Amino acid sequence: MSMEVVLEAQNIRKYFPVKGNMGKVVNHVKAVDDVSVKLYRGETFGLVGETGCGKSTLGRTLMKLLEPTAGTICIENKDITNYSERKMRSVRSYIQMVFQDPYSSLNPRKKVGQILEEVLMIQKIKCDRQKTVLDILEKVGLRKEHYYRFPHEFSGGQRQRIGLARALILNPGIIVCDEPVSALDVSIQSQIINLLLDLQEERNLSYLFIAHDMSVVKFISDRIGVMYLGHLVEEAETAELFANPLHPYTQALLSAVPEANPHVRKKRIVLQGDVPSPLNPPSGCVFHERCPYAKPICSQEKPVKKEMAKDHTVNCHLYEK
Ligand code: SF4
Repeated sequence: MSMEVVLEAQNIRKYFPVKGNMGKVVNHVKAVDDVSVKLYRGETFGLVGETGCGKSTLGRTLMKLLEPTAGTICIENKDITNYSERKMRSVRSYIQMVFQDPYSSLNPRKKVGQILEEVLMIQKIKCDRQKTVLDILEKVGLRKEHYYRFPHEFSGGQRQRIGLARALILNPGIIVCDEPVSALDVSIQSQIINLLLDLQEERNLSYLFIAHDMSVVKFISDRIGVMYLGHLVEEAETAELFANPLHPYTQALLSAVPEANPHVRKKRIVLQGDVPSPLNPPSGCVFHERCPYAKPICSQEKPVKKEMAKDHTVNCHLYEK
């Protein structure tokens, strides 16, 4: 991993308008609220949090599949925030996405070879298309004869390999992986993760890896960001985060990860209440209604980001100096 930044997003907000009876906007769902992230060349940045915390929305917003409500996005030092859809075309091949369920985005009536060749055609890439597709199939561990098969003829793991082939064929620098192994059996998960790691090393790829499974994220990520209700509440290198989680929410998340060593006893922290609605997020710290350490200031003031150790930041009033 180098210290070269390939993607930098600052103060990203993504609000979805909620309309009332008369079609007037009456409120907003604050799916992502003031999040800043950096992605370095060749690294994997894991983004974790429960379903609905805004991590997938953030991933899509960084690729401008969703327009940000506020904030700036730079890719390879180019500010793409206000790029038109036409101008985005060149960026799209550089930043690709792998989805949880690639099947839903593969045309069931087309053969895999044709699906992949179309990606090259849309981007107007001049090459021997069939050869390029056959090469990429081999790269992701599929065989030549798979070129002539339909998506339904593949297993879940193989379909995820097709999803990866589709992302890789345009030779991207960044891949946003949105829960890419969550739907797969554990044994298949590790095959896909190892494939992702091999490809990263070979091509110096940067991954934004979105997942709710802490064990998977721990295995693949160099750094991890923890999201709660649209906010990035803690960020650190993987080993540092697991050894020294600071935010009470991170502590609760990590306490639920099964321990590899059966002799180590862990006390599981069970959070009270449900995740509040992003329609009416709590005042101050968005976690205060569920936090075992909340103090009066927590419901009044939003905690700001503080760096507690090298590259380890947290947003929490407990660490006010
Ligand atoms: Fe808990 Fe307060 Fe820290 Fe929020 S700011 S996580 S409520 S201690």
